[in-house]
Amino acid sequence: MAVKRTPFIAGNWKMNLDHLQSIAFVQKLAWSLADARHDFADAEVAVFPPFTDLRSVQTLVSADSLPIGYGAQDLSAHDSGAYTGEISGAFLSQLDCGYVIIGHSERRTLHGETDADVNAKIKAAHRHGLVPVVCVGETAEDLEAHGPSAVPVAQLRAALDGVDGSKGLVVAYEPVWAIGSGQAATPAQAEQVAVALRALLVELVGDEVAQGTRVLYGGSVKAANIASFLREPNVDGALVGGASLDIDEFSSIVRFKK
Ligand code: PGA
Repeated sequence: MAVKRTPFIAGNWKMNLDHLQSIAFVQKLAWSLADARHDFADAEVAVFPPFTDLRSVQTLVSADSLPIGYGAQDLSAHDSGAYTGEISGAFLSQLDCGYVIIGHSERRTLHGETDADVNAKIKAAHRHGLVPVVCVGETAEDLEAHGPSAVPVAQLRAALDGVDGSKGLVVAYEPVWAIGSGQAATPAQAEQVAVALRALLVELVGDEVAQGTRVLYGGSVKAANIASFLREPNVDGALVGGASLDIDEFSSIVRFKK
């Protein structure tokens, strides 16, 4: 069954742009989207600022009803309590976040997040009405040893254990070797893994949810290559890191033409 999935362009700011810079950025992005209405590709656009920016972004987006979504880059697996430094999904949903990135490779490698942590965080996101953007991806060594799909598929299988897919889900395939390296995967490589991930989704959450779930590609996406990824039938958008910090570059990305 062919289902139309709205392309999703997500900007992961990582630890960049403070709350004042976030206001300027979102304002400029809104102008750019308004400007582009006539040729805009009808993508959904969201930014993922640091936690300390979220209240400012919420205030701006809600005051002007901007067509820009936003979410956090992580959340706690717990809802409240003695977890110093953690942020609850309850707090994020009170700030009207729609999404939360979970299991980004930087969280997995720099902060030791396991598949079990990712699974618990997805369930926490769902408890608070947030749509998790679940990141999976292989290292260069994994690619060499196991081929293109094995590690991302295994990560997604573990991530979704016991998860109710009907509560909303976005999957981001981000090969670790492509993140911040300037060396993006080819569109064909991204499509191959997206197909494998969608086949797994069919098995885990059923055909209807699987066909409606957006599978993004991430890793050195920029204005010059976004269209080539979006032309692939199973790649439904992009998770953009470095290029999401430059307003001109990010504006060009969200205005992609297939
Ligand atoms: P990049 O990062 O676009 O800078 O490669 C992508 C990501 O880490 O989500």
